[in-house]
Amino acid sequence: MQQATLAIIKPDAIKKNIIGQIVRRIEENDLAVVAMKMVHLSRKMAESFYYVHRERPFFASLTQFMSEAPVVLMVLRGENAISRWRDIMGATDPAKAKEGTIRKLFGESIERNAVHGSDGPESAGFEIGYFFSAVELVR
Ligand code: ADP
Ligand code: MG
Repeated sequence: MQQATLAIIKPDAIKKNIIGQIVRRIEENDLAVVAMKMVHLSRKMAESFYYVHRERPFFASLTQFMSEAPVVLMVLRGENAISRWRDIMGATDPAKAKEGTIRKLFGESIERNAVHGSDGPESAGFEIGYFFSAVELVR
């Protein structure tokens, strides 16, 4: 099934200057980048994006982290894009992520874990719509 998912290159990865290394892994795995932009999220934008986590103990720290430097926002399209992108990213905690995954390679901690990916069709719809309008998706 063709799907779209939201990917974010998080502030820790932007500071490491590894945008290209992450995009290369997306392309090598046959996912297409169909929208892309770089933004510096405000604290409020980060809080609204991660609203589902508002009750979690790490919410304040997470939203501070996500607004500390710019991020790259992308919409990825391909066969089973949602679960495939999550497989390429690896587990939330880099220490538990499989060898060769982006989080294993580049993540610093369970919070500063380099990338984001939507966790299902419903969140993908919300997350893509949160950052992109229809005219910004190229196909
Ligand atoms: P994922 O990004 O793998 O879908 P979650 O949706 O559970 O993970 O969490 C969202 C983000 O919150 C994670 O990517 C990570 O940056 C941060 N996070 C998750 N769990 C923790 C934690 N226990 N402590 C600090 N930050 C966390
Ligand atoms: Mg999640």
